[in-house]
Amino acid sequence: MRKRTIALCIILVGILLVPSLSTASLLRAQKNDLAFETVREQHLRDIQNHFPIIVPQGLYHTYDEMTILLQGLAINHSDIMSVVSIGKTFEGRDLWMVKLSDNVNQEEDEPDILFMGAHHGDEKPSYEVLIFFIQFMVDNYYNGTESVREAINNTELFIMPMVNPDGVEAGTRKNCAPNHGPFGLQKKITSIGVDLNRNYGYRWFLFFLCPWRYYKATSVMDRTNVYRGEYPFSENETQAIKSFMETHPIIISLSYHTSGELVLYPWGYTKNPPKDEEVFVSIGENISRLDNYTLSQSIYLYPTLGDDCDWAYGEYGIFSYTIELGTVQATSDPQDLLEMCTSHVNVNLYVCQRAQLLQKK
Ligand SMILES: [Zn+2]
Repeated sequence: MRKRTIALCIILVGILLVPSLSTASLLRAQKNDLAFETVREQHLRDIQNHFPIIVPQGLYHTYDEMTILLQGLAINHSDIMSVVSIGKTFEGRDLWMVKLSDNVNQEEDEPDILFMGAHHGDEKPSYEVLIFFIQFMVDNYYNGTESVREAINNTELFIMPMVNPDGVEAGTRKNCAPNHGPFGLQKKITSIGVDLNRNYGYRWFLFFLCPWRYYKATSVMDRTNVYRGEYPFSENETQAIKSFMETHPIIISLSYHTSGELVLYPWGYTKNPPKDEEVFVSIGENISRLDNYTLSQSIYLYPTLGDDCDWAYGEYGIFSYTIELGTVQATSDPQDLLEMCTSHVNVNLYVCQRAQLLQKK
């Protein structure tokens, strides 16, 4: 009799435990989403009330207009914003890196986040969303917008709107450095420009081992639009980013491109999922809830080899995403552009919150 009572008790405790365990795991899941919910609620409100004024001559800033704007903002907000050149292009333009943080001239023990635009010079919305973001942040820091203050006070945001300013000015995908044949063996100039987003050095030699697999991903032919360069990091721009990454412990990076309305995570070179797929999907799903884009592992868009995302994750374990903005390469509709800018302020702020949770782990 007593044995039966004990057995009954065990079953009863078991039944009670099952729902409480699942409640605990549910709570954990909700905690992960807390950053997203907070950002979404605050920012839908903030953004509806505030549109920073961008006054470039055309719809998009030129490199010179951007330079003047960034330097002006950094002077006016020198306590939270700095802008430095991390290198020069072939044509002599500075590669501007903006930093937003409190105590901006110190390296603090706060998570570092990197935002990049315009690896491809003809994808203009990819830098415009970042110029808008910078302006939004400095405009809203002092008036007490909570999530802006929270991001600037607790993270270090590094923002490089134009990775490829020569390409932006020329209106080309590639940069403007001269090529001397596929491997640089010819004396004469044979073509212009390298696809910077095929010039990062991760698994570079796979191309030579399995050329049939990567013939669409990149090319050794210097005239093509996906020319990878003579060797890894052969270009000033990718070299500058490499040096920057080596000295800054970035946790999350977002690289903006156009187009396709996609949020992409590594890998681009293989169909194997990344080791941290669960985290990539968890962050990526929240990003795609904010911009309504489709989340996918990069290779399912098309294979790439030598892009910044695979390299940043493969080399440094950075949670790196590529965001393909909009449905066309460079929209001519101001409303369309504004929409991209505002929804990605949300995305960027969400990523700042999430980086803090990742650092605490
Ligand atoms: Zn692109």
